[in-house]
Amino acid sequence: MTIATGAEFLKRMERLKSDVWMDGARIEHPYTEVEPFRSVLRAKSALYDMVHDERYSTILQAKDKQSNFSFEIPRTKEDLIKRRKATQLWANQTLGVLGRSPDYVNTMITIMAGAKDFFSENDPAFGDHIDRIYRRAKEHDLTFTHTFVNPSISRKPFYPDGEGKEQAIATKIVEETEEGIIIDGARLLATQGGITDELLVVPSAAFIDSDYLFGCTVPSDAKGLTFINRPAYKKESVFDSPLSAQYEEGDAIVVFDHVFIPWERVFLYRDEWLMNELFMKTGVESFLLYQAVNRQVVKTEWVLGIAQALVATFDIERHQHIQGKLSEIIIALEAMMGFVYSSEAQAELNDYGIMVPKLETLKACASYYQSTYPRLIEIIQLLGASHFIAAPSEKDFNSEIAPQLERFVKGEYVSAYDKFQLIQLARDLSITEFGSRQLLYERYFYGDPIRVLSSLNGLYRPKKEALQERVHRFLKREK
Ligand SMILES: Cc1cc2nc3c(=O)[nH]c(=O)nc-3n(C[C@H](O)[C@H](O)[C@H](O)COP(=O)(O)OP(=O)(O)OC[C@H]3O[C@@H](n4cnc5c(N)ncnc54)[C@H](O)[C@@H]3O)c2cc1C
Repeated sequence: MTIATGAEFLKRMERLKSDVWMDGARIEHPYTEVEPFRSVLRAKSALYDMVHDERYSTILQAKDKQSNFSFEIPRTKEDLIKRRKATQLWANQTLGVLGRSPDYVNTMITIMAGAKDFFSENDPAFGDHIDRIYRRAKEHDLTFTHTFVNPSISRKPFYPDGEGKEQAIATKIVEETEEGIIIDGARLLATQGGITDELLVVPSAAFIDSDYLFGCTVPSDAKGLTFINRPAYKKESVFDSPLSAQYEEGDAIVVFDHVFIPWERVFLYRDEWLMNELFMKTGVESFLLYQAVNRQVVKTEWVLGIAQALVATFDIERHQHIQGKLSEIIIALEAMMGFVYSSEAQAELNDYGIMVPKLETLKACASYYQSTYPRLIEIIQLLGASHFIAAPSEKDFNSEIAPQLERFVKGEYVSAYDKFQLIQLARDLSITEFGSRQLLYERYFYGDPIRVLSSLNGLYRPKKEALQERVHRFLKREK
């Protein structure tokens, strides 16, 4: 077993030869040496180094010291609490803005392997496959991203190719051989697409046709696999854009051009029942949400810290509405922590012996954050106001104009340099392309907010119906 160091992780990324396009050109290798990916890979390597740091290793390593925490299957409530602390520790390192820290998708693979009997229900081979996928990932401390959305052209699986023939749009199985399956089509979207060791293709329930029902992993540099990345966001120095310059992950359209997937990488195959039950029955959905909301707790702490720093720098805390805005962030933080603790307190062992935090609570939490995060960012904008626009750059502070900046735009208690270092951080979180993407991320990365609400309503049906029954008993004057 290996627990990778940051240097070992970077060495692997240096060798990665995936096919990533951006702005009409193929991105040159190695990704570790040049932007757009150099910085984010370094940020991830720091996470791996933390696992070896004796200040954090008790929390960040699994109890058996054979892997990092993300590969450990929680069996008790204590295991869950340890996982919470580890997730928050890693998230804190990147201010909660890194969506694909390695624990996100690793957790999904770990929980699926913990529930491998689920995948064996119709064919023992698939349980064996997910177990092998997990063991390989753990042994080599691999990183993944995932894709589970079909392209949206009218939501049709096929489209005419111009000559009247139908061509696949959403990724589907086009051939099956003794050795494996061949898949063709596209998927949306993969954050960090092309810069993780492997990609997890999560089965999509959008089409009932069984050609679309499969789950597998694929190396990012597999033949025929292409990632079409959005243009990278503008990065200046760490002073000017502290978040964009360090944590720009990229988001990619994923194209599978007749990609061969050996059977040992396929864990779900043409099985609608397994597809529909996968997320809830195995505990995967609870654990994906548990990772996400713990990251969001940390992010909210950072938002509160940044807001308080702005308020102190501008010396505006005496105004009641400013106190009210800070309290709004405090309420969000307390609510998020309450959701997390409640999900742990209500955790139960599932059929596979995994201690699963309460799904309803976590889904309510995720939905709450989808609508709350935009308000938190609005508060940062309201506090920053024109400071975010009249913001000198690091080059200005290093030029002969610097004394004028120190004279005219310094803070009450801080230098202009220190004041604008903070303002640039708040600006990058709230109004830059990076900040706007973060907003969209928190709204959508877990799925469309409308459908999350609708699914929460469905999940709550037994409890709602019991409550409805109580109302009727009251009206009938029954005890
Ligand atoms: C920054 C970012 C990063 C992401 N990273 C990843 C990733 O790494 N991996 C991954 O798999 N996915 C990722 N996603 C994609 C995410 O899963 C989707 O954004 C999400 O599932 C919503 O799908 P969509 O974007 O196609 O929106 P759509 O489904 O097209 O929805 C667009 C709008 O139409 C409405 N709408 C559409 N259909 C319906 C309907 N049937 N009923 C009601 N309303 C409807 C929605 O409410 C919404 O307002 C990411 C998204 C973002 C924004």
